[in-house]
Amino acid sequence: MSAALKTDWHDQARRLDYRNQAFIDGRYVPAAGGKTFDCVSPATGQVLTKVAACESEDVDRAVASARKAFESGVWSRMAPRDRKRVLQRFAQLILDHATELALLETLDMGKPIRDSSSIDIPLSARCIAYYAEAIDKVYDQVAPTADNALALVLREPLGVIAAVVPWNFPLMMACWKLGPALATGNSVVLKPAEQSPLTALRVAELAVEAGLPAGVLNVVPGFGETAGQALGRHMDVDMVTFTGSTEVGKYFMKYSGESNLKRVSLECGGKTPHIVMPDAENLDRIAAEAAGGIFFNQGEVCNAGSRLLVHESIKDEFVAKVAAYAPELQPGDPLDPTTKLGALVERRHMERVLGYIDRGRSEGARLVVGGERVRQETGGYYVPPTIFADVTPGMTIAREEIFGPVLSAIPFKDLDDAIRIANDSIYGLGAALWTRDITTAHRAARRIRAGILYVNTYDSDDITTPFGGFKQSGFGRDKSLHALDKYTDLKTVWIGL
Ligand code: NAD
Repeated sequence: MSAALKTDWHDQARRLDYRNQAFIDGRYVPAAGGKTFDCVSPATGQVLTKVAACESEDVDRAVASARKAFESGVWSRMAPRDRKRVLQRFAQLILDHATELALLETLDMGKPIRDSSSIDIPLSARCIAYYAEAIDKVYDQVAPTADNALALVLREPLGVIAAVVPWNFPLMMACWKLGPALATGNSVVLKPAEQSPLTALRVAELAVEAGLPAGVLNVVPGFGETAGQALGRHMDVDMVTFTGSTEVGKYFMKYSGESNLKRVSLECGGKTPHIVMPDAENLDRIAAEAAGGIFFNQGEVCNAGSRLLVHESIKDEFVAKVAAYAPELQPGDPLDPTTKLGALVERRHMERVLGYIDRGRSEGARLVVGGERVRQETGGYYVPPTIFADVTPGMTIAREEIFGPVLSAIPFKDLDDAIRIANDSIYGLGAALWTRDITTAHRAARRIRAGILYVNTYDSDDITTPFGGFKQSGFGRDKSLHALDKYTDLKTVWIGL
């Protein structure tokens, strides 16, 4: 039996101690204005704790602390092999506190404990460890000049990085930023989403315990319009690294243009096409992947396979196979280790998802399964797996990111038709294709406009490959050694000889 199944999670949850203040200059402090906001459990609708609501004054303090630490060189000029050791200890401390962190994640945003304990927390630690291990193996360059000069091409940290992250994988998205940003010597001010501040607040303390100097990592919980905007407009922030919606990504471009032209990197939304060709092998297995591709994490995944493009000759048979997974994916208590689909993050988001379901019905899509809120008696925000068939590419549920457990099945005629529909989106994050034909696979891989293409698999990746999108899914890449580029600037040093 796995560790997740053996643990009594409810019992552990009762004993949790929440960190609920901002973390600035190496210690917990209340928001300067004394304000707090309710941190609500989506599983029950109950308040877990009240968290400091940071505003611009708190952001100023955090940025000043990050700047002071950066300029002092205590971290930014530390030898890479020493930064490596600190970050390795940080990764290990995340693993040592995996039970506590998994609980915080699940209570805070509603995902099943089996996922937070087996995916979110271990992968967060692995991400930090990966950049720790990488950083003393990355070399700068010597340019091929004539022999009367020596020209060095050096990478330098940017300075103060603001990391603004979403609530769907709260710690993992934060670590995708923290790993490369800290490894390259920057200082960071992290703003978690207001729906999910708890793990970010807890790991800040673990980072200091690992040896990260005070001020190098600060955490300012608070709302987007206040804390988020203050970071985006701050004159002393050198870069914003953002993950979240396309709408808010655009605000950060505007904030940058209206302030100090800080660098901006955006990992935004998606509407991933999941294409099943008629020659694809083993429809049963593909149906399982298609169900997992949309219902994992309640569909609150940027590259959720939310548009199922199925060849018209197999569409009814295939959609029925995917729908057959609905009973085992009924939402349940996120702390129950057998639960595979938890609660949506908050009431407002649940209402938004239900609104899209109503829209699907009214625009003429055929509801195959799901469609109504469930488990209302718990006070939590639960929506079951919902599948629409006979969706046309122009319908709202085929165009907008729903970010919930709602699948839109769209029939297509041939490969050209599938690629046309796949590319008919403002987004270009992920795409998937199932086929036995290698030519079909290569043709599609060249023509589909997306940052990640899965062939005969779904959502398979690890920290070694870049993640990010084309078009309005953003720009810049998280993960892999490529992420190091966005947290550094190149400096040329030309030495006359
Ligand atoms: P969101 O855009 O509402 O919020 C993201 C962050 O921005 C939060 O910290 C929020 O407080 C802040 N924010 C909100 N409004 C702001 C404003 N006016 N000014 C400054 N900051 C503001 O996104 P969300 O609802 O938290 O997350 C869901 C979105 O994230 C989806 O669109 C999803 O596709 C995307 N996402 C993308 C990736 C990726 O790697 N591409 C990964 C995960 C999630």
